[in-house]
Amino acid sequence: MAANRVTVVGSFNVDHVWTAAALPRPGETLAGRYHSGPGGKGFNQAVASARAGASTSFVCALGADSGGQLARALAVADGIDLRDQPSDAPTGTAGIFVGSDGANSIVIGPGANAAMTPSFVDAQRAAMAESAVVLVQLESPVASITRALQLAGEAGATRMLNPAPANVEVPTELLALADLLTPNETEFAALLRRHGGDEVDAASLAALNDELLHTHCRRLLPHGTVVVTLGAAGCFVSHAPQDLRGDGLQHYRVAGEAAQAIDTTGAGDAFNGALAAALARDAQRPFAQQVKFANRYAAMSTENAGAAAAMPRLADVIGRFG
Ligand code: ADP
Repeated sequence: MAANRVTVVGSFNVDHVWTAAALPRPGETLAGRYHSGPGGKGFNQAVASARAGASTSFVCALGADSGGQLARALAVADGIDLRDQPSDAPTGTAGIFVGSDGANSIVIGPGANAAMTPSFVDAQRAAMAESAVVLVQLESPVASITRALQLAGEAGATRMLNPAPANVEVPTELLALADLLTPNETEFAALLRRHGGDEVDAASLAALNDELLHTHCRRLLPHGTVVVTLGAAGCFVSHAPQDLRGDGLQHYRVAGEAAQAIDTTGAGDAFNGALAAALARDAQRPFAQQVKFANRYAAMSTENAGAAAAMPRLADVIGRFG
């Protein structure tokens, strides 16, 4: 295992974004503005990790098309060690409609992302063996990310599972492999429904008392750390008793940082990539400080438009917050 190295296993998408006065209703045609840019939770998190200062490998699957070429060029630009499985399927895409009030509707074409195989992940075991943190999400086949966390465990790396998006089922075996779980409110509510048998309302989650939140987290991941991100409010941290990571507290909140947010797309990805990088850079620092850095990093990402393109650089974060 090498300090300061993160491996992200996940998706790359080309985001096609149309902004109009309102979201189109069925049968309606609207004129609006268009732009495209890189996205996909895996790639966004890899860019955040690299820009937050960690040597970063990104394991993904790409098509033989312009999207794949874009991914390769962008990985070079950010110094990311790209390990892509070539696919006959087109590179992943997302079609995103945004209304003037910021509401959006999204259709994802997983394409090559759905074709990443466990054996390709296996072939990247050297990257995992050199990493302090291995970070996965749910936009890639569950068998492949399960393999990634198994390899990470064998290598002694911290296994980080960002259970996003919320509509993808997380098998119990996958959950059991995670040292660190980072749901947002919607994902946390979905996990609790499926794995804890608890019905909680995602919208009122931040208002729950800390003891109850901690109880929910412990039931979900008895052996590890859960960080529930709470948007502008920051996040809630819950540690297993054997896993206090230098803080001495079992649970606490870390307040969000003030931001002039113009686009919160990818804020969760910014948080995850930055937290992975912080843990890889200096595992000895108290966990609450690592989370504070991730909050700062994610807050700054909301001040820029786009997903991967919005990720700030370490120097910018230090310049702003010291
Ligand atoms: P997701 O993007 O997955 O829905 P959240 O909305 O919980 O995730 O945001 C992730 C993190 O991004 C938060 O924990 C916080 O650090 C930061 N963040 C999100 N929105 C804001 C905001 N409006 N102001 C400041 N920080 C924010």
